[in-house]
Amino acid sequence: MKVFKFGGASVKDANAVKNVAEILKLFPKENILVVVSAMGKVTNALERLTDAVFYPESKSGTGKKEDATKVLAEIKKYHFDIIAELFPSKDHPIYNEINNTFVELDWAAEDEPTENYNYEYDKIVSMGEILSTKIVQAYLKEAGLNSMWKDVRDFIQTDNTYREGKVDWELTQTLVNEHLMTAIKSPFEGGKGDEGKIIVTQGFIGGTSENFTTTLGREGSDYTAAILAYTTNAESVTIWKDVPGVLNADPKWFDETKKLEQISYQDAIELAYYGATVIHPKTIKPLQNKKIPLLVKSFLNPSEKGTVINEVQSPLPIPCFIFKVKQVLISISPKDFSFIAEDNFSDIFNLFSEKQVKVNVMQNSAISFSVSVDADERKLPDLIKTLQKQYRVLYNDNLELITIRYYDQATIDRVIIDKKVLLEVKSRYTVQLVVKPL
Ligand code: ASP
Ligand code: MG
Repeated sequence: MKVFKFGGASVKDANAVKNVAEILKLFPKENILVVVSAMGKVTNALERLTDAVFYPESKSGTGKKEDATKVLAEIKKYHFDIIAELFPSKDHPIYNEINNTFVELDWAAEDEPTENYNYEYDKIVSMGEILSTKIVQAYLKEAGLNSMWKDVRDFIQTDNTYREGKVDWELTQTLVNEHLMTAIKSPFEGGKGDEGKIIVTQGFIGGTSENFTTTLGREGSDYTAAILAYTTNAESVTIWKDVPGVLNADPKWFDETKKLEQISYQDAIELAYYGATVIHPKTIKPLQNKKIPLLVKSFLNPSEKGTVINEVQSPLPIPCFIFKVKQVLISISPKDFSFIAEDNFSDIFNLFSEKQVKVNVMQNSAISFSVSVDADERKLPDLIKTLQKQYRVLYNDNLELITIRYYDQATIDRVIIDKKVLLEVKSRYTVQLVVKPL
């Protein structure tokens, strides 16, 4: 079996969904597990909905009900516009199906929220993937593909760390065998004998033992594909993107980019860890453990080769650049100007972990500890306030973090033109620079 992952951009409108069906038709005899993200920017819209529901006094001052209702209406219209284009007959069962799914969202938006923001977030935001997979699967069926819809929460089990669910691998393996492997082995309703089977399921979300919904962290659908590839012993994973493969820099920030033909698992882990958005950082390890190759291909040119990530040992032939904007450099020092020591570190790290703030780069000196983190409005103010109880905290925002893997001085000089370097951390293969644009 192969695992295919289609992200938000690859299902962002009716034509994109039709294109997914065209791609699947290129593999008529294969069994394929299709992992789909929420359509387009729906996850962002659902995050806005969560905020509108959770924070009674919205920032715009219009009050909870109105805001939430407006955002919800926007999300409904977006999905129903796509459905109307994909299914001209208004009698098609998908209309009912999606209406019912939205009733669940209506409830979630109307109920008095609990105290737990992350729990409410997962309950609401996860609906993006439920909606997208229902629509995609119904369309595949319509297009004559032998397909079936599965609720991933029945087999990917996590703990109750909402917004960052930790996978229970053992239980997930058992449930995958029970639900997925059994399904793929038996004929689908209406299917012909020699046809490949397609199972469509959700990326990004999981379930807990109490049947609550969790999410695996933003952009987590790649990780879902890896979890399912690992537990089904898939022959490969393909991530279908709007770029021709993995490039040595994000074309959004750099003019001259080159496609990488082949990347070792190790380099892919490093690149993703430092923030190359092309692959979610947690994706590679499970694949590496079972030597399952990961292909990154263009959904616009499915016959082109793309990039393969596998066991190759050679280093990358050119420097790779990773650029992160909206960085905040936080510098933490003891209030009494004493040295910063082990007990401080343990305090500080515990706090970062508790507040779920990811450190992108860190450096320490005798009296201070500096970290660069993403400017996350939901998490940072609280973190800084708590840190300030014990430490002197300085921060500098609107910064950029540039990471270069396989750097040389010439490439460093090139990227820091017009920038002031505030922090530099070098290792043998990687340099990280926190800079302020001049
Ligand atoms: N829809 C989720 C997000 O946008 C998961 C994903 O796209 O991978 O974060
Ligand atoms: Mg997405």
